[in-house]
Order: sequence, then C-alpha cells, then structure tokens
Amino acid sequence: MPQYNPPIRDMQFLLHEVLDAVPTLQALPPHAEIDADTLNAVIEEGGKFAAQVVLPINLPGDAEGCTLDKTSHAVTAPQGYKEAYAQYVQGGWPALSCDPTYGGQGLPLVLNQCLYEMLNSAGQAWAMYPGLSHAAYEALHVHGTPEQKALFLPKLVSGEWTGTMCLTESHCGTDLGLLRSKAEPQSDGSYRISGEKIFISAGEHDLVENILHLVLARLPDAPAGSKGISLFIVPKFHVNPDGSLGDRNGIYCAGLEHKMGIHGSATCQIVLDNAVGQLVGAPNKGLAAMFVMMNGARLGVGNQSLGLTEVAYQNAAAYAKERLQMRALSGPKAPDKAADPIIVHPDVRKMLLTARAYAEGARALLTFTALQFDVLVSTDDDDERQQADDTVALLTPIIKAFVTDNGWIATTHCQQVFGGHGYIHGTGMEQFVRDARINMIYEGTNTIQSLDLLGRKVLGDNGKKLKKFGRLIAEFVEQEGTNEAMQEFINPLAELGDKVTKLTTELGMKAFGNADEVGAAAVDYLRVMGHLCFAYFFARMAKVALEKRKDGDLFYTAKLHTARFYYAKLLPETASLIRTARAGLAPLMAMDEALF
Ligand SMILES: Cc1cc2nc3c(=O)[nH]c(=O)nc-3n(C[C@H](O)[C@H](O)[C@H](O)COP(=O)(O)OP(=O)(O)OC[C@H]3O[C@@H](n4cnc5c(N)ncnc54)[C@H](O)[C@@H]3O)c2cc1C
Repeated sequence: MPQYNPPIRDMQFLLHEVLDAVPTLQALPPHAEIDADTLNAVIEEGGKFAAQVVLPINLPGDAEGCTLDKTSHAVTAPQGYKEAYAQYVQGGWPALSCDPTYGGQGLPLVLNQCLYEMLNSAGQAWAMYPGLSHAAYEALHVHGTPEQKALFLPKLVSGEWTGTMCLTESHCGTDLGLLRSKAEPQSDGSYRISGEKIFISAGEHDLVENILHLVLARLPDAPAGSKGISLFIVPKFHVNPDGSLGDRNGIYCAGLEHKMGIHGSATCQIVLDNAVGQLVGAPNKGLAAMFVMMNGARLGVGNQSLGLTEVAYQNAAAYAKERLQMRALSGPKAPDKAADPIIVHPDVRKMLLTARAYAEGARALLTFTALQFDVLVSTDDDDERQQADDTVALLTPIIKAFVTDNGWIATTHCQQVFGGHGYIHGTGMEQFVRDARINMIYEGTNTIQSLDLLGRKVLGDNGKKLKKFGRLIAEFVEQEGTNEAMQEFINPLAELGDKVTKLTTELGMKAFGNADEVGAAAVDYLRVMGHLCFAYFFARMAKVALEKRKDGDLFYTAKLHTARFYYAKLLPETASLIRTARAGLAPLMAMDEALF
C-alpha cells in the first residue's frame, strides 16, 4: 500500500517565500483580511483529509472499480467512496473557494489548487467527483441566470449534488462541431434534449442524491459546426422551484467503460431521452460558456498529474533507500549490509530526481497560475485583470500538456525504481502509471493543447501574451544579472528566452507559407515553453534557497540540488526539441498516405 506525506513545506515555501501570496491576495478586495496562518491551516487540514481519508480507499477502489445495475441504471462507486465523500462535504471542503453568496467560504482559489494536488496524490479517481463539480460550479457561476444560480449553485457549493460535463459523443471528441444531440424548445421555456454521450466522468454514481449535467446540444435552427452548439443544464432529478427534488429526468447511464486506469471514477455512456433541460447562456454560444468549465478542468488535469508525480516520487524514494541490490560501481556504500541500497546507483537517482524536479517545477507553475487566477477573478483594476487573463490563457495549455506528459514520464520512472515489484498491483506503482495516462488524453489531447498554444495563444495574437510573460522572465534576468551565485541559472534561462523568441518568429514566418507548419512544430514548441516556465521558476526557487540555506535548513539544500539537477539533466532537452521543431512539415508529409 503506497504512503503519502502531503508536501506542506513545499507549498508554504512557494506561497510565502517565492510567490508572496499573502500581499498579492490582500491587495484583492475579497481577500483583504487573508493571512499566512489561514493559508497554512487550510493546507494542513486538507493534507490530513487526503492522507487519512482518501489514500486508504485508492488502491482497493482501483481493484474493485464501479458497477452498473443495468435494470435500474444505478452506478455504485467502490467501497468507501461514498463515506469519504460524505466526510468531505461535512468538512465544508467543496465550499472552500466558492462565492459566499451561494454558501461558499470565499477563500482564494490558490487554496483549492493546493487541496486538489493532495487529493489527486491520495486518489485521482475519487477526486474527480468533487473536481468536476467544482468546474460545473464555475461555468454556472459565470454563465447562469440569477435564477439558475440561486436554484443550483448552493447545492454544488455544499457538495450535496455533483456536476458533470457532457460533451463527447461516439463520433466526436476533439471536433465538437460534429455533435448531434438535439434540444427542442418547449412552450414553457424549457428544452427537451435527446442524444447519446460517451466517456462522461462521474456521469452516474451513488455519492449524492442529485447530479447536474452540463450538456452540449444543438437547437433545431442551429448553424452547422461549432457555432451551432448550446449549453444546457440537465438534472438527474428535476428540481422544484423551492430546491426540493422532483421526478427522475430522462437522462441515465446505459453502460460503464472498462478502462486502463482511474477505475474508481465512473466513466459513463449517457443516454438523454427527451430529458428536460434549461438553456445556460445565449443560444448557439454554448461552446464559449463551456470553455469556462473546460479551462478550469484543463488546469485541474495538470494538477492531477502533479499529484500523481508527487506520490509516485515519495514512494519510489522511500523504496530506493531500503531495497538492497548490487554494490555501487565505486565500491560498497553499506558494507555492513548484504548489498547497497539501490539509491547509490546513478541511474536510480536520475529517475528519482526527474520525478522530484517535475513535481517541484509543476507545483511552482500551478501555484503561480492559481494566484494569477485569483487576481483575474477578484481584482478591480482593469489592467491587472487583463494581464492576469493573458497569463492564465498562455499557461493553461502548457500546464495541461507539459505537466501531464511529465507525469507519465515520472510515474513510469518511479515504477521502474521498484523493478518487478512496480509491475505488481499491491505496491500501487502500476496504478499511478495507469491513472497518469488518461491525463494526456482527456480535456483536449496534448496535441490539441499544443495547437492552442502555438496557433491561438502565441501566433494568433502576434505574440502579445508571450511577450508579456517574457517580460517577467526578462525582469528577473535583469535583476539577478549581477548576482554571481545565480549565474548558473540566469545564463541558461536568458539563453533559452532568446531561443524561444527566435523559434517563435521562425515558426510564424513558416506558418504564413503553410498553416500545417504549426501542426508540425506545435508539440515540440509546447515542450520548449514548458521548460522555459520550469527554468524560470527553478531559478526563482534557487534564489531563495541560496539566500536561506546558510541557516542550516536542509530543505533549501535539497531545493538547490533539485534545481541544479533540473538545469543539468532535464533542461538540455530543449536543444533537441528546437531542432525537431525546426525540421518542419516535409519529413511528416512527404510519404504518401497509401504507404502507411
Ligand atoms: C476516462 C475518460 C474520461 C473522460 N471524461 C469525459 C467527460 O467527463 N466529459 C466529456 O465530454 N468527455 C470526456 N472524455 C472524452 C475525452 O475528452 C476525449 O476522449 C478527448 O477529448 C479526445 O477525443 P476522442 O477520444 O474523440 O479522440 P479524437 O478526437 O478522435 O482524436 C484522435 C486523435 O487524433 C488527434 N487529432 C484530432 N484532431 C487533430 C488535429 N486537428 N490536429 C492534430 N491531431 C488531431 C488527437 O490528438 C488524437 O490523438 C473522457 C475520456 C476518457 C477516456
């Protein structure tokens, strides 16, 4: 059974020593009274909940999976899931960063970020039930009418009901413009929705009494393609005007997917059979409304892989200190034992440090972005809001794709550290690998994220968002340019910044000639950008560590070692990525389709 120690110290280091979270938050009207003690206390309690309540049901829940009663269409989550969820609701966790108007606690979003990292470490499959509900809350909070918000939000905020996002159909996943589900307007202002959705996470389960489905469908006169999609809220049970539950609605689970990982998360085939729904937002503008949910979910998926990377690392590091195999090439390191612990072997260390660096880099990037999100939703300064909006928009595809690709690499490395034991269910390592794989696929595959980054976010606005983010890096480089101790970080960071500028210009020029050049370079480009972000945050973390390690606190020594490892062993990957990005379209398209 895997162990998990919530990385409270690292979270507090980022919040208080690197990112100055408290003054940033205090400058925002809703958080003027926030203090470090509150942030710390919430994180500590969240960590306890994750480790004590969610972790114990993760491995058995994976073995058991969800079950469907085909007669009643009822889905039962694995043993312990319902009880853990009830404790979650009782503890007030769903309300943490929700609007007080609807019963929320109004605490900063960055706390939700920290909480969810820990929930994901303890059990990604379980964490998907509250996670999707929060994303549904965000979409309704932005796009719902006052009546819809008053009726539905309090129950999502309290956690009494959960939410889903129903986009995918069997013939359309990436290209939602193809979707066929239909919505017929009724004389009472409601809609009757019919269609079939697949792969709907938490689409049916026994954790709560009602489920609010956010469904994409087409109105009768809708234009073809993505401009003809509308968003509807379709409750499992009808909701009376006083909030009480009415009859069962015509939406049910027709099948459960048997899948590679996240077995405890019910992945449902959902049938809408003349189900009654309400329109959310304007007709035919459903995709834009759904984007609130999708963007939140994309950051959430990055956070899933951060959680898995951290827990896999912790278990692999502990194992590597205990497992005795072979002697170090340079001679015995534990002569009193039958063999040396495998942590003496350089390649075992490389695997461990890779996972550690990917966890710490991702935590810095995600915490920074969550703080930017807080600024975005809470500032009353227009310029500041625009700056935060641009930053979040630029970083969202990077977080979704770079962090999940790294999560796959990291969990596989950590499994490898366990040797054959990593392939056996009981250690939990193979579950982390299987769970991590989906994060590269759903919420828009990582290829789609890279097209979003290079095509829309970078080239689509002539590099304006990129330049704004680049200014942050340039300011840091300028500020630390004369700090001798920081040169090992500042020089490669500045060099990579210049290379990204040149690469972006070159790809922009190529794209003028042939738009497919974007598709040929985008995945490599996103990975280079991910490294630029990590290099920036590792440099900032190293600066603090260099200043404070003199106090003798080994946390800073370890941070510095990790930053140096990252710069020496992982960042150089950018050289080959830039080469392959430059290699362009021709090697991909030259071969005739018939030859595949
Ligand atoms: C476990 C699980 C849970 C899920 N949960 C939900 C959920 O809760 N709600 C929901 O609505 N959906 C959900 N999904 C669906 C998921 O979001 C889709 O599977 C995903 O978006 C990809 O769509 P697709 O499977 O149809 O693949 P396709 O769209 O068919 O893509 C196939 C391949 O083609 C590539 N491709 C497609 N278009 C392009 C392009 N323009 N350029 C380059 N490459 C391209 C893709 O990157 C991919 O590699 C879930 C899926 C799974 C497996």
